[in-house]
Amino acid sequence: MISVKKHFRIIFVALLLLFFCFPQTVLLQTTSIEYICAGTNFETPVYIIKTDYKEPTIMIVAGTHGNEKAGVKATEYLKDNLHIEKGTLIIIPRANILACEENLRCFPTEINLNRVYPGNPQGNSVEKLAYEIFNLMKKYNISLLVDLHESRQFYRVNPNNYGQTVVIDSNDDYLFELSSFLVEEMNKEIIEDGNKYQVLVDPIKGSTTYCAHHQLGIPAITFETCKKLPLSFRIEEHLRFIKLVLFKWNMLAVQK
Ligand SMILES: [Zn+2]
Repeated sequence: MISVKKHFRIIFVALLLLFFCFPQTVLLQTTSIEYICAGTNFETPVYIIKTDYKEPTIMIVAGTHGNEKAGVKATEYLKDNLHIEKGTLIIIPRANILACEENLRCFPTEINLNRVYPGNPQGNSVEKLAYEIFNLMKKYNISLLVDLHESRQFYRVNPNNYGQTVVIDSNDDYLFELSSFLVEEMNKEIIEDGNKYQVLVDPIKGSTTYCAHHQLGIPAITFETCKKLPLSFRIEEHLRFIKLVLFKWNMLAVQK
């Protein structure tokens, strides 16, 4: 008789131990989709991956420029394959979806989405798109914005291009320390010196990160790979960069 009661007690204690020692086994993440510019040609999905612990909220934007594929491919992979331990991750894989479909930097070609922030709800279609992305940052009260880009040339070869850099929009101590840390960690795995990353302080008015940082006070960083490197390598680099950021914010249990 005592054994039945005792067994139940043992099972109960074991379950409690499991819950406290391995919380990841019981934490669930859910992914929901909302759309920006819904009902227009620029309608594009936003993936919101939530856990039981809402904070921090990190937003990752790719496809601001449609011919910069590595960030688009990396985020499209992650939206289906990433398991976070805590926080909220917001992913926009194809910010300018028409530019992505046309494989063009900008669509329409004369309007650069990365120069029209914070956008304008009464403006042209690209200004409306910027306005909706800007509103998402506010709505979710994000802790960090990461904007993924690619450049046709290495910064070290031609400083007009930003290939292999992490760009920040001000000399703010926190941003500088954060980007320096990320560059240092990324460079540990880069064998060829010429492919190593460097921090670049370059305020670009009207860009996603400039607007997030200067208007909303959100830490914001741009990650740029160089298109001279193979696409498969660049996709891996974007994945590695995103995971590094998530690890630093304790959203991943182990550095994968
Ligand atoms: Zn770009």
